[in-house]
Amino acid sequence: MSKKKETKYIFVTGGVLSSLGKGIASASIATLLKKAGLKVSILKADPYINVDPGTMSPFEHGEVFVTDDGAETDLDLGHYERFLDENLSQNNNFTTGKVYSSVIEKERKGEYLGKTIQVIPHIVNEIVERIKKAGEGNDVLIVEIGGTVGDIEGLPFLEAIRAMRVELGRFDTINVHLTLVPYIKAAGELKTKPTQHSVGELRRIGISPDMIICRSEMPLNRELKDKIASSCGVEKRCVIESPDSRSIYKIPLLFLQQDVLTPISEMLNLGELKVDMSEWDSLVKRVIAPTNSVKIAFVGKYLDLKESYKSLTEALIHAGANLDTRVEIKWCDSERIHEDNVEEHLKNIDGILVAGGFGSRGVEGKMEAIKYARINNIPYLGICLGMQLAMIEFAKNILKIEDANSAEFNVDTKNPIIYLIDEFIDNSGKKQIRTRKSPLGGTMRLGGYNCNIKKDSLLSKAYGGAKTVRERHRHRYEANPKYREQFEQKGLIVSGESDGLIEAIELKNHPFFIGVQFHPEFTSRLTNPNPIIVSFIDAALKNIR
Ligand code: GLN
Repeated sequence: MSKKKETKYIFVTGGVLSSLGKGIASASIATLLKKAGLKVSILKADPYINVDPGTMSPFEHGEVFVTDDGAETDLDLGHYERFLDENLSQNNNFTTGKVYSSVIEKERKGEYLGKTIQVIPHIVNEIVERIKKAGEGNDVLIVEIGGTVGDIEGLPFLEAIRAMRVELGRFDTINVHLTLVPYIKAAGELKTKPTQHSVGELRRIGISPDMIICRSEMPLNRELKDKIASSCGVEKRCVIESPDSRSIYKIPLLFLQQDVLTPISEMLNLGELKVDMSEWDSLVKRVIAPTNSVKIAFVGKYLDLKESYKSLTEALIHAGANLDTRVEIKWCDSERIHEDNVEEHLKNIDGILVAGGFGSRGVEGKMEAIKYARINNIPYLGICLGMQLAMIEFAKNILKIEDANSAEFNVDTKNPIIYLIDEFIDNSGKKQIRTRKSPLGGTMRLGGYNCNIKKDSLLSKAYGGAKTVRERHRHRYEANPKYREQFEQKGLIVSGESDGLIEAIELKNHPFFIGVQFHPEFTSRLTNPNPIIVSFIDAALKNIR
């Protein structure tokens, strides 16, 4: 009988405050381990109560990242995929809400045989089971615990990792704790006290860190690192610094320079780990100091919240690194763009991008920008809502359908260029019914779908002649095939389809005007950029006048 592969666990916790970059630190360690030849996966365990981030406002939570299997997940999963170049799944992210829902469901079914259901053991066991499930088949699973040590809702998660450490013992788990080492300007000093307090808090729960990663805006000298090591009870070589960097993709390289893999490998008994980061290194050089540069107008709302477009801005960086080009983004608030000032906003721009979005706010301005790109032969990429609006603009101004609209903005529109279909097959093969009256709640088309590409189209060129590609969706509305013939007669053709659904459109007689119903940014990785986004940036480069 073959022995089941033992998974090693690296638990990553955070202290002092949030937004220190735990996700990037976790993804960086994962990347180094993968490059060393190990099978690595990552899990984000989020202590908040929402069942998933799907319904959370971008003001609350930044972007909702969509996995290939259609889960709406935390934006950190996006970082993991972009670093690791692996598809993750719904098993790679769970929240307190998910944990409680399944425990309550089991309780209702009588699976606990009438026992009193408690946080310890039932909730904690459920968390442990989910962690183990995500670890199955991997050499190493990195488990990032969301939030900060000391948060009330984080306690069951920390108890779960404490219990796993006891159960699995030495060589199978380590804890990496990320903290802030603030620089106090007035004193001209870096301060270690918050780190000591945070480790003290972790200890109180029964977890001693094995490695401490220190975020700081200044380099840490040896003396300071040694002080952290002795006061927090970790080995000196296990105090790693994570300074502010010009690119998040530089972090794995900075960790490697500090020889982070040696103690990890020794503590987890992983054997000698050799990594080749030369390809990564040269991409990072081209992210930081590329030869060329292009200016892309990003026309949208929520521009004060760039985090909600994280995957897209990262995808632009990936495409840029690939083309040795800096992609400079000019953020254009669509609510301020009107017919009489569109030129002012968009002159000297090499490409125009309208990204996904919900609701009617700002759509007029977006359509002005699209019209400007169409008429002036400026490369245009419309993503999801950006494709839908390109079709509405064309219907209004070229097909002369004056009241052309989306059912999202006017349910009773006489000309729903974009409409709500009644039913569709989701990516697990289940039939989903959506009704006009209740378009909300679990009725979005989510996750990866195959798209068949029209031969000799711009899209086909972008994908290097591929006949079928797989891209991810997150939307409710669809382009209405009723108008297809009219569009095609006037030069706006359908270049991507799946099961009769219109997935991509493009303009004939335009250097680059593509709209896609899916989100190409979700599949873009530093070492494997999305082809449409690369060809959009390439077209923008060629357009430099
Ligand atoms: N609001 C549109 C829809 O639901 C587009 C969504 C999006 O851009 N992600 O279909």
